[in-house]
Amino acid sequence: MNSFASLQPETLLTSTGRDPAAYGGYVNTPAFRGSTILASSYEDWEASKQGDNPYRNYGRYGSPTTRALEAAVAELEGGYRAQVFPSGLSACTHALMAFLSCGDHVLIADNVYGPTRSFADHTLRRFGVEVSYFAPGIGAEIQSLMRPNTRLVFVESPGSLTFEVCDIPAIAQVTHANNAVVIADNSWASPLYFKPFAHGVDVSIQAATKYILGHSDGLLGIVTCNQNTWERLQSSAHVFGETAGPEEVYLALRGLRTLSVRLKQHWQNGLMLAQQLALHPAVAQVLHPALPGAPGHEIWQRDFLGATGLFAIVLNSAAPEILPCFFRELKLFGIGLSWGGFESLALPVGTPVRSATPWAQQGHLIRIHAGLENVEDLISDMTSALDHIHTPQHKTKMACAEAQATSA
Ligand SMILES: *Cc1c(COP(=O)(O)O)cnc(C)c1O
Repeated sequence: MNSFASLQPETLLTSTGRDPAAYGGYVNTPAFRGSTILASSYEDWEASKQGDNPYRNYGRYGSPTTRALEAAVAELEGGYRAQVFPSGLSACTHALMAFLSCGDHVLIADNVYGPTRSFADHTLRRFGVEVSYFAPGIGAEIQSLMRPNTRLVFVESPGSLTFEVCDIPAIAQVTHANNAVVIADNSWASPLYFKPFAHGVDVSIQAATKYILGHSDGLLGIVTCNQNTWERLQSSAHVFGETAGPEEVYLALRGLRTLSVRLKQHWQNGLMLAQQLALHPAVAQVLHPALPGAPGHEIWQRDFLGATGLFAIVLNSAAPEILPCFFRELKLFGIGLSWGGFESLALPVGTPVRSATPWAQQGHLIRIHAGLENVEDLISDMTSALDHIHTPQHKTKMACAEAQATSA
């Protein structure tokens, strides 16, 4: 496939990862299904085991569809090569496993995706890896946490639930000086709004389930490496037998074609909604990296090319009875996990787990994904649900009871 590195991102998204001349003129790379790959002769079979064969000799190593997606994402992220995984979490756990051994130490940002944290706490520790956490705003001070056996620093920026932005260039400089590698979960920004390799990251992860697939209809993960880390990641993935199904890989390639237009709208809707919610008296805090005053906002401005649709709000109140009432009033926001699809979501997320940095919140923390609906509709839906809970407590209780009675 050709390289389109000099093209602007919107153009690159329409041209990368497809090769009509190879598939009878069809615009899109087809979804290849297969396990066995036949050799045409004994000599061909022997040659198929060599490392430079793009599909090796078995379907588990990937198909032309897989290679097309991996090449496209590696190019968009600015990395060397990429490897698909069956989910975003599997991309995170296998990236960690590839670079850590018994006796090593890993430093992880305190605001990472909960399941990544659980994997480190339960599985990595079980295999003899020392795990510690650092404050997302640490920057170059991370030097003080380095141990002689520190092999890896894992960041997610902005992090899940609380959206603090890390100073990745500063962290990367210190990490490299200590002969360790930097892995970044880049799912929030997507390959369009943060260029990990230009900021010192060695291995970048996409939960492609989110904005790349973009329609809440599949699960997929992708790990992109620089040249130094590629062999190790790829061989580790192969020994674990990691692979991804053709349908999801095809859907990810298809999702890339519209990624830039979708993201612009998620960005605009998310920011307008966040700005409106910041003015509402029921809201104590809006955690959105593009809002001045948010933790790491200056770093977001310096390093990122855009914002997406995922952020959080902290309510004024922690009263348990307001949550059922709030969610009952919301009509356009679904309650559910994940994000990055075309539809808006709101999720009660409790209190984030922290170990390096204390986290205190005034009221309930709600994560919001701004979808592709009309933003005025989203603002009025969320505003009326907030109005509903922002009444003196007895009135709230009465309003809830009334709503329950009328819906029954
Ligand atoms: C959702 C998510 C993942 C995991 O992706 P799945 O495909 O759901 O396994 C990893 N990292 C981040 C930041 C996520 O939001």
